[in-house]
Amino acid sequence: MAFSTAHSALAALREDLAGEVFAPWDPGYDAARAVFDARADLRPAVIARCADAADVVRAVRFGRELDLRVAVRGGGHGAAGTAATDGALLVDLSRMRRVTVDPVAGAARVEGGATTGDLDRAALPYGLATTGARARTTGVAGHVLGGGTGWLDRLFGPAVDSLLGVELVTAGAERVRASADEHPELFWALHGGGGNFGVATALTLRLHELPRFSLALLRYPPGYGAEVVRAFREVFRTAPDELGGAVLYLAGPAGGPRCAAVLTYAGGADGLRDLAGPLRALPHEAGPAGDLPYTAAQRLLDTPPGLRHHRSARCLAGLPPQTVDAFCAGGEGMPAATGSRYLLFPQGGAVAAGPRGHPVAWRDAPWTAHPCALWADPADDGRAPRWVRQACAALAPWSTGAVCLNLIGDEGPQWVRAGLGAGNVLRLEKVKRRYDPDNVFRCNHNIRPV
Ligand SMILES: Cc1cc2nc3c(=O)[nH]c(=O)nc-3n(C[C@H](O)[C@H](O)[C@H](O)COP(=O)(O)OP(=O)(O)OC[C@H]3O[C@@H](n4cnc5c(N)ncnc54)[C@H](O)[C@@H]3O)c2cc1C
Repeated sequence: MAFSTAHSALAALREDLAGEVFAPWDPGYDAARAVFDARADLRPAVIARCADAADVVRAVRFGRELDLRVAVRGGGHGAAGTAATDGALLVDLSRMRRVTVDPVAGAARVEGGATTGDLDRAALPYGLATTGARARTTGVAGHVLGGGTGWLDRLFGPAVDSLLGVELVTAGAERVRASADEHPELFWALHGGGGNFGVATALTLRLHELPRFSLALLRYPPGYGAEVVRAFREVFRTAPDELGGAVLYLAGPAGGPRCAAVLTYAGGADGLRDLAGPLRALPHEAGPAGDLPYTAAQRLLDTPPGLRHHRSARCLAGLPPQTVDAFCAGGEGMPAATGSRYLLFPQGGAVAAGPRGHPVAWRDAPWTAHPCALWADPADDGRAPRWVRQACAALAPWSTGAVCLNLIGDEGPQWVRAGLGAGNVLRLEKVKRRYDPDNVFRCNHNIRPV
């Protein structure tokens, strides 16, 4: 492509877009390319901050004209290793965050750049909610299209189980709507296939009634990790689907990592107190507890912006004593003086009972272990990710092999296959060939067109 052609295409994009365009020499480019993981130093060729779906069509058309890969930014919480936006066109949806709730239909239309916090704020006044990521700032579209675990998934299923429709701009810059009746094969592929098939300008999500919610956070003294995990396992052996939560190790600026348990309950605090019996029987300090809005749970793991981040996860077939020990050793070995956390959360309930056949290969696993390193000092760039890798390696004997791709970065194509389910891959590749034959959308957990 001649320089003059690229130059005039960029000028035309600036003219046509209702939103904003940032080239590397523009003021605002550096702020516009920043993402959650401060390690990421991604340098897109052009950033198109779109104001609406028509802008997304214009941007994708521009990208095709210049033969650019197209990357998508919703909430910016994707793992940097999969974003690979250097030299790409970045379609930035951070201006497209409107959420419209229809309380009668029990559904919401959520624009492609809306965050989990935006959705909760719009839905909760009606006593409605759906499974959201465990952080308010994550993008809804990225979370849902990647499957989507969360505090409420044992009750409402992985986030993608509530997907009713997707408004998409495809690689051909065409606007399509995918649902059970329209482009059904594409709709199937969007249940876990992430951003492989186009830019989702809006999702329609089913909302569920959540009239009451309560929460308990219990912090334990050093050395109690294994007892806490065993008590937690006991609680979830018979727990109703309304109960969610996690055992987690939290690193603090002073002292070593501490083990805690979070319980979330779609019901009142009295019921939660009874269910939490085995965990309350261990010596603990109580954190926030009682009848609280669901947003209190979503705030628990809030992270200040500007930290470096590395995460991974393994789905576990069970929690025999050696697995408990391996998890606790990983938690105890967490690098100090960071905001890191190591979660062990239960699945089961509606996660396991949800529809078969979608590319959500991890739904059968009863447990997921999820180490997340967060750190500020670039000197820890080796040590913190190493801890994540070692924590996962230690769990390898009990890993089911599947994993929710949202929770991992670029760990190689074998994990993409495992996350989607090897049996689904050929079908996904066929859908990819139909909607993105040139693999324009490849800054992601990539599915190649066959
Ligand atoms: C602090 C934190 C907490 C998290 N908690 C959870 C959790 O509890 N459960 C869970 O499942 N995951 C969780 N995640 C992972 C998160 O859900 C995924 O990384 C998700 O992809 C983030 O979406 P995003 O829009 O914020 O990220 P982005 O970086 O903007 O997008 C990530 C990828 O998603 C795709 N994408 C995003 N928006 C669109 C769109 N509108 N159209 C098409 N493709 C799109 C693109 O492929 C993009 O590369 C968490 C991540 C962080 C950092």
